Amino acid sequence: MKLATYRLLVSGLVQGIGFRPFIYRLATKNQLVGRVENRNDGVVILVNATREQVEVFREQILGTQPGAASIQSIRIQQMPYTPFDTFLISPSENVSGRITEISPDIAVCEACLSDLDHQLHRISYPLINCTHCGPRFSIIRELPYDRPHTTMSVFQMCDLCRSEYEQVQDRRFHAQPVACNHCGPVYSITSGDEKSSQIDQVLRKTARLLSQGALLAIKGTGGYHLVCDAFHSGGIQKLRHMKKRDGKPFAVMFHSLEEAREWVWINDLEEELLSSWQRPIVLLNRKREFTPGVADGLSTLGVMLPYMPFHHLLFKELDHPALVMTSGNFSEEPLLISDASVHNQFEDFVDGVVSYNREIYNRVDDSVTAVMGDLPMVLRRARGYTPTPLRTRFDLEGILGTGAELSASFCLGRETMAIMSQYTGDLKNLETYEFYRESYERFSHLFRFTPRMVVSDLHPDYLSTRFASELAAEKQIPHLRVQHHHAHLASGMLQAGLEGEVIGFCFDGTGLGLDGIAWGGEVLKSSYLGFERLYHFDYIPLPGGDRAIKEPWRTGLSYLYQIYGTDLLHLRTPLNKAFTDEELRQIISLLEKGINSPLVSSAGRLFDAVAAISGLIYRSTFQAEAPMKLEAALDPTEDGTYPIEIKEGRISFLPLMRQLVEDLHHGISLARVSARFHLSLVNLIVDLAAEIRASQGLEKVVLSGGTFQNRFLTKKVVRKLDIEGFQVYLPDHIPVNDQGIAAGQVAIGAHQINSGLALYA
Ligand code: ZN
Ligand code: ZN
Ligand code: FE
Repeated sequence: MKLATYRLLVSGLVQGIGFRPFIYRLATKNQLVGRVENRNDGVVILVNATREQVEVFREQILGTQPGAASIQSIRIQQMPYTPFDTFLISPSENVSGRITEISPDIAVCEACLSDLDHQLHRISYPLINCTHCGPRFSIIRELPYDRPHTTMSVFQMCDLCRSEYEQVQDRRFHAQPVACNHCGPVYSITSGDEKSSQIDQVLRKTARLLSQGALLAIKGTGGYHLVCDAFHSGGIQKLRHMKKRDGKPFAVMFHSLEEAREWVWINDLEEELLSSWQRPIVLLNRKREFTPGVADGLSTLGVMLPYMPFHHLLFKELDHPALVMTSGNFSEEPLLISDASVHNQFEDFVDGVVSYNREIYNRVDDSVTAVMGDLPMVLRRARGYTPTPLRTRFDLEGILGTGAELSASFCLGRETMAIMSQYTGDLKNLETYEFYRESYERFSHLFRFTPRMVVSDLHPDYLSTRFASELAAEKQIPHLRVQHHHAHLASGMLQAGLEGEVIGFCFDGTGLGLDGIAWGGEVLKSSYLGFERLYHFDYIPLPGGDRAIKEPWRTGLSYLYQIYGTDLLHLRTPLNKAFTDEELRQIISLLEKGINSPLVSSAGRLFDAVAAISGLIYRSTFQAEAPMKLEAALDPTEDGTYPIEIKEGRISFLPLMRQLVEDLHHGISLARVSARFHLSLVNLIVDLAAEIRASQGLEKVVLSGGTFQNRFLTKKVVRKLDIEGFQVYLPDHIPVNDQGIAAGQVAIGAHQINSGLALYA
């Protein structure tokens, strides 16, 4: 047996999660000597061992790594022999230019929850954490991840905490946010003129107010929540009143899985997602009606489990096992993170503010996920996921994608990693745009990013496009403009590592097309370097332009007008009955004269029209309300379909609408009409895929765009395509909606810059 010194370079997400102490314990258990150190590019381990021992050691690292770690690779190298006496943990070494990963925020671990009852200096300490759990991304200002670089820097560790922090065997060894009742940040509650900051009082008072129907602002990990008792209509009414222009469903935090199961169906994958350390909101099918005002008219409920120690402590004091918890903001504005802004903006609406005196540096909302068939999909990528990079097989270095407008986010290419920003919201809002720019500054600093190309949407009016052109001018770098749906599909290709050409179905609300018209029902033959538009939803006019997006009845009327002309006034659909002839005539006159009626090809608007004609919804109060409610309304046992006509690449839904109107006249229920509509789209996709395979010889199908958040549609499409022998790809780590656009832009930019070929030539 020959001893040698081996060097193991562990890369991936290995910092800030107790990785070095883990290596220390493993090495001592195996009686290995050497050392471990954090570097900017990963963790380096030196051990004196035989080749066999080092292989076993490697396997043990991979097999028993801490929960939140995600090892990408372990490279082993034999080095000149160095004698060691023991196993040591060395201080951090700075390797400039290269980066390692910053951990996302991690839900409180079981061991810490147990410490809340047993550790004398942490009894009920509401900000307890250890190397395996606690805040990370939300408090970090600078790399490497050390306490002075976080918002914990202002708190002096007490002797007890310091000894744990310095004790290699301790679970809090080098836990940067380590704190206790003696030395850490504290919670407080302010209600009226009263303020308390003694934790037992804070918890009792918070619980009492909530059970009385209060609406409270409570500081979370990455921003404030607005919180009320999920079974008290008083609190929910206050919340609805505060968010009156916005009928969005609210998420509910349940005390436990068991309590949640009373109300929603939870399968194994969903349980795994709910209980994961990321603790996202998971959209789940409801078993029965929930409290009115929470998620009316939808078949799903957004559910999450407690993830901060404070949540766990609070539930012990509460009579009811569920809280409505929604983002602390007004519609479309960024989440509030500072006490001052909460007091200024929420004062007239909330009955109290629960806060703690540690600053949130990086704002990060709750993430939203859903399981589609057997695929867990991230729909809003934020807390728990940001800033974990997506590892790809392509060189993406220096490419910045600035995203779209709704659900905005940007993406940095660093080496082969796509680093996506957190969800920021709708850029039409000025505060959101400021948050977006600030986040870009912070990400480029944290990840030492120097852009060499910036990629934006084609739309000249998106603030993300303007941001791109300003940055390109300032840095003297190229600015590439990429078509919206091309970017959607590229995000799916990037995640799956696909190259060459694919069949792409991209259905969404809207994105500017190459012909200057708003697209959104696109069937493309697509690669990173371009696309061919094989089929698209036939254009229809939108009477009133953007107003029609908020008022689906206008789009419904537009479809009816294409079929029946002014005879539509004699129809007996629910839409006809809901409006006076005078109101209908006003819209008809816009259509007749072609005034303010831009053309669109949009799947989102198609769903709007069906929802409006069948009487489900005439005006929407939040994005995608009509499609969501149409899905919720459908009868899954129905198997009928409607005809769709395809002529010279144009997909016409007029025959479908004609048949749908007939159904409504015959009293067929909304549930069956909705199902027939959905099934018609499923067939359309599968038929077109088969046709393209026959003519073009392509077998890979990418689905992208917000419409594929529709679980009924997506599950059916994926299953049918699978049976037909296609390889189907759907972005899941990258959101399928517009938050995913930026990653697709980066993929296209990287291929363009590396090939030198022009796009859309
Ligand atoms: Zn812990
Ligand atoms: Zn302490
Ligand atoms: Fe889109």
